[in-house]
Amino acid sequence: MKGSSRINFLFDPKKDWENFFYVIKNDKWGIPPEFKGLSENEIKKNIQFIHSQNFFRDYPKIIRENWEPFEKRFFKIIEKIFNKPIAHRKYKAYLTTMTRCPYFYKKNDPWFMISFYNSIPSIFMTIAHEIFHMQFHAYLGEKVRNMIGELKMDYLSEAITVIINEEFRDLFLSVQRDPSREKIRGFILNEWKKNKNLEEVVQKSIKYIKNKVKFHGEH
Ligand SMILES: [Zn+2]
Repeated sequence: MKGSSRINFLFDPKKDWENFFYVIKNDKWGIPPEFKGLSENEIKKNIQFIHSQNFFRDYPKIIRENWEPFEKRFFKIIEKIFNKPIAHRKYKAYLTTMTRCPYFYKKNDPWFMISFYNSIPSIFMTIAHEIFHMQFHAYLGEKVRNMIGELKMDYLSEAITVIINEEFRDLFLSVQRDPSREKIRGFILNEWKKNKNLEEVVQKSIKYIKNKVKFHGEH
């Protein structure tokens, strides 16, 4: 895609409530530590209070101002990693009061969430992580899915984001950790450093997953 891509930072209470209800129903870990031990109603009141604060509604603007100096370089690095143009021109990043930050890869309207409870450097890390996922889906997803199926593709698409730690070392202050995929992440990083060819790393990782990673129901 010609020209540079952009992230629009937004707050939409509807989107945050959707995430809240998802978290309450499916995903207990996504409740911020601040809300642990509170009843659903108490959490709701807290969220309503947070939403009503000016600083919260202004927060997307503050993030935008901090993100601005990085944006061009950020997308250039992503392009270089994938050796492909950025798949979308516009991304929406919605603020959420949860720690769960889902992403929705849609062809014309890709969006993801960033957590109010994260620091700005850590929000930048979320951005890198989610955009990396979307690039992966845009250029490699179908191929990888056909080779190893949905579950293993998801596993790979999480593990391979370790490349962010390496390539954004000087741009962001924080690194993302993922203890559950430590071994394969070590493998991926090692392969990546050899000649920084993503397709090659993906092929090797697929072999690694087939031979070394056990999934539920497999022996
Ligand atoms: Zn992820």
